[in-house]
Amino acid sequence: MHKIAVLTSGGDSPGMNAAIRSVVRTCAYMNVECMAIYRGYQGMIEGDFVAMNARSVNNIINKGGTILKSARCEDFKTPEGRKKAHEQLVQAGISGFVVIGGDGSFTGATIFNKEYDFPVIGIPGTIDNDIFGTRYTLGFDTALNTVVDAIDKIRDTASSHNRLFFVEVMGRDVGHIALNAGVAAGAEEILIPEENLGLDRLLESLRRSKKTGKSSSIVVVAEGDKTGKNVFELKEYVEEHLPIYDVRVSVLGHMQRGGPPSAFDRVLASRMGVKAVEALIAGKTNLMVGIIDNEIVLTPIAEAIKGHTKIDRELVRVSDIMTI
Ligand code: ATP
Repeated sequence: MHKIAVLTSGGDSPGMNAAIRSVVRTCAYMNVECMAIYRGYQGMIEGDFVAMNARSVNNIINKGGTILKSARCEDFKTPEGRKKAHEQLVQAGISGFVVIGGDGSFTGATIFNKEYDFPVIGIPGTIDNDIFGTRYTLGFDTALNTVVDAIDKIRDTASSHNRLFFVEVMGRDVGHIALNAGVAAGAEEILIPEENLGLDRLLESLRRSKKTGKSSSIVVVAEGDKTGKNVFELKEYVEEHLPIYDVRVSVLGHMQRGGPPSAFDRVLASRMGVKAVEALIAGKTNLMVGIIDNEIVLTPIAEAIKGHTKIDRELVRVSDIMTI
């Protein structure tokens, strides 16, 4: 393996830059050339490559987003698009790549690997923490801290006005951000897709907390929750059925994807980048780097794509107890 490429693909997440830095520096350490591919698979198809050295990644470990830019690329889903990408890689002398991204990016990588027997390794970068084969994805911890910080601020104003706030957080089809942030921020209720306890239970809980003297409440709602109502409809529902509450809504949105990565994400990214390059150099392929029980491990990409993450049941129980 003489030349390794690195790209970021799909949605961005904090920690991607720290992972790029780690891949580039590990290549330098191992005396392997490293190329950056800009704009994900689109840049691969167009040959948007830049040679990297250890100094090219100075001062990026602390930056959110991705210096390589990210893009969604429909062309890479076609055999013709992937053929062009392969031609560009061969022409540039690249013999393997590390892709930092989510499910879709890994699906593209594994199809490409099968078609051209081209070595690929994935690093899971998404705030949603929804990838099988790793306890944590890059960016999850940062997003969690961002959400907790935002809810702390919302709580200040909620308690000054005795208000109830529905706070919608990201997470797509899973409730990892909502559950963890809800527990960390002391939410009254947490609505996650994995567990639909129904609207009656929500009303009951809110009624009880009013009775026991709580002056304000925070309900964290995962964007993919299954109550069948979005946060604005939940507000209307509670106002109608429990007029004792003055209700407000806050949708945190894309701020959850930005900001400097947490120390945890920087360390994780550094460890994952080293493992990814070492795996490629050792002749391994079609694997995703993950962290399980604080060990950096490799899982077949096919399994990572097919598998589903599970919500932490113990944390659900803790959250139930805390809302007494
Ligand atoms: P996020 O979790 O943020 O959505 P992702 O990696 O899942 O990240 P996608 O947009 O699903 O994001 O995928 C990123 C890119 O991967 C796509 O734009 C496309 O270029 C490539 N890709 C996705 N699915 C396939 C596929 N079935 N075949 C080939 N390439 C694919």
